[in-house]
Amino acid sequence: MTFGLSGIPAFDYYRPANLADALILRQAQPQALVYLGGSDVFPRLRSRQLSSSALIDLKSIADFPATEVLADGTLRINPQESFIQLLPWLANFPGGAVLSAAIQQTGTPALRNHATLAGNICNASPSADSLAPLMVLQTQVILQSLLGSRQLPVQEFILGPGKTACRPDELLTQINIPVQPEGSVGTYLKLGRNKAADLAICGAAVMSFPAAGTANGLRHRIAVSGANPVPLLLENISEYLASQPAGLPAYEHAARLAADAVHPIDDLRSSKQYRTAMVYELVLRGLIACHEQLEDYTQG
Ligand SMILES: Cc1cc2nc3c(=O)[nH]c(=O)nc-3n(C[C@H](O)[C@H](O)[C@H](O)COP(=O)(O)OP(=O)(O)OC[C@H]3O[C@@H](n4cnc5c(N)ncnc54)[C@H](O)[C@@H]3O)c2cc1C
Repeated sequence: MTFGLSGIPAFDYYRPANLADALILRQAQPQALVYLGGSDVFPRLRSRQLSSSALIDLKSIADFPATEVLADGTLRINPQESFIQLLPWLANFPGGAVLSAAIQQTGTPALRNHATLAGNICNASPSADSLAPLMVLQTQVILQSLLGSRQLPVQEFILGPGKTACRPDELLTQINIPVQPEGSVGTYLKLGRNKAADLAICGAAVMSFPAAGTANGLRHRIAVSGANPVPLLLENISEYLASQPAGLPAYEHAARLAADAVHPIDDLRSSKQYRTAMVYELVLRGLIACHEQLEDYTQG
């Protein structure tokens, strides 16, 4: 069916009812744009940053795997779930707080009602709010084509600004968050130009949990967004923190290492220097917040 929407050139519209039909369409029309919530796709079609003569609407596909906690504790997410629909799942998932904090700071309530986590991942914006939390949660994405399926850690899926490892014949069909260590706490701190609905100037996701075999009985995972072409998982800082006594001197040094590791750009939302200074600040605050939550956990 050919369709017209105000401000967008006419396009052929497809609404497959099942995954098999969607994958056949994807193979036959590799130039077609797929979408879920459409909150990235439609504004970019209107502003002519994107163009396509065919759109594939994935919202009516009935057989994406359902969102559920699997027998091994993995939280499997259906890509059609809106941000709002995910919050109850995350509230009951240990460590899920790091992602729910990011979701609650993404756009407006209206946007969170229809935009999806899957779309946020596939859009691959350097300042996407979900990507740093998904990295510290060691999330895997499942991609499917007519040839079969493959699984990738989210940090390998994101290749650059707007670029992912998803081939034109593939669809993202599942997001898998593995079970997290007992006692995991986490937070996502976002700096935008305002508190309303701004993209992040930068953001930091921090997770901490009790762990044997480290100098302080803890492990931390840290990732930052908005300060590099792709959000960055800072594994070397986790190793540094595991070798130090827990406390402010180690957290300040870790935050300095984070600021040294990023290569931000100057743009109209922030200078490079300000972004670097804010990475230091957000990582430090995130580590302190997790430390305080763990104290509550161990004392409570
Ligand atoms: C006013 C406004 C405020 C915003 N604020 C924020 C913010 O604070 N933080 C933030 O991170 N983002 C923000 N965004 C960006 C956007 O809302 C998010 O990236 C959102 O998560 C995209 O989800 P969606 O379902 O709408 O994606 P869509 O627009 O449907 O798709 C996004 C991309 O993913 C691709 N895609 C979708 N599904 C699949 C699939 N199954 N397989 C392969 N590719 C797929 C599409 O082709 C497209 O390239 C904002 C956008 C607007 C308009």
